[in-house]
Amino acid sequence: MRRTTFLALSALLTLAPCAPLLAQGKGTIGISMPTKGSQRWIADGDNMVKSFKALGYQADLQYADDEIPNQLAQLENMVTKGVKALVVASIDGSTLSGVLQKAAEKGVKVVAYDRLIRGSKNVDYYTTFDNFQVGVLQAESIVNRLGLKQGKGPFNLEVFAGSPDDNNSGFFYDGAMSVLKPYLDSGKLVVRSKQMGAMKVGILRWDTATAQARMDNLMSAYYGKEKLHAVLSPADILSIGIISSLKSLGYGSASQPMPVITGQDADLPSVKAILRGDQTSTVFKDTRQLAKVTAELVDAVLSGRAPQVNDTKTYNNGIKVVPSYLLKPVAVDATNWKPVLVDSGYYKESQLK
Ligand code: BGC
Repeated sequence: MRRTTFLALSALLTLAPCAPLLAQGKGTIGISMPTKGSQRWIADGDNMVKSFKALGYQADLQYADDEIPNQLAQLENMVTKGVKALVVASIDGSTLSGVLQKAAEKGVKVVAYDRLIRGSKNVDYYTTFDNFQVGVLQAESIVNRLGLKQGKGPFNLEVFAGSPDDNNSGFFYDGAMSVLKPYLDSGKLVVRSKQMGAMKVGILRWDTATAQARMDNLMSAYYGKEKLHAVLSPADILSIGIISSLKSLGYGSASQPMPVITGQDADLPSVKAILRGDQTSTVFKDTRQLAKVTAELVDAVLSGRAPQVNDTKTYNNGIKVVPSYLLKPVAVDATNWKPVLVDSGYYKESQLK
């Protein structure tokens, strides 16, 4: 009797400390995020840690402060420490070939997260949202709000693009132009500065202050007496700077309303700006879904199962087409923020006050 109790107890004691180890027993995943400067990447990181833990992995999450050397050092370190896979949202998608070669030599699987990694054969998969569609949704918000389909216009538009070293920027821009081009061609939309092209109007590192300064310059050079009616902004982090610039020039009053201003990410300050009427729309990309899809994909690869992808054509990184899983972005404005952002549990209504 005593011996049985003793055995049962010692079995429990040996098992107890093992239980958490077993749960975490599938190894460590290195997660490299670009910056904490925009809220979305913080949410991405947190959601990914949760998703990987739920599948039995440990997560090494690092942010690189938007500095390429930091990201390279963090990745090198993860490879040296023996991670099983790397999930990377790159700062500059073309700078990682060296460290990814080292990863490949150690059998580490690599997933490009949200932003495609370019110029390397050692990118196994890509998980993201349909980036072209993001631009389409932004442009549709301009078209609808200005009444262009109803023949209204002409209207003055200025155009911004994302960081030239981010592969997404061209997709956002092309998607938007696919919708805006007929109106630009017909003269219903006029870009007074004539500054067009994703590279020309791109804001390096998605920097808010640079966007604000560019808006200031455009307004002083081209909008003496003329009014600005719309701004194509590819992301909330730029829209914030654009709005500050326009407010300082007197936009946002009853006599001089804000132009239509787009965005992306549904960052909290920008959702609040939509509720105040300073920003027109944003594009919501549910980071909970992207994190889940990514963790499941990595788990499948590491367990020897075929991972789920739904696009094997679109994302050529210069060396190969990277098999991708694309999620759907959702347009958000003052009419649908509640069902999309609050009822889905992404935000609490109290956070938007
Ligand atoms: C992401 C956007 C984000 C931008 C700036 C892009 O690569 O897809 O969601 O707004 O980077 O951080």
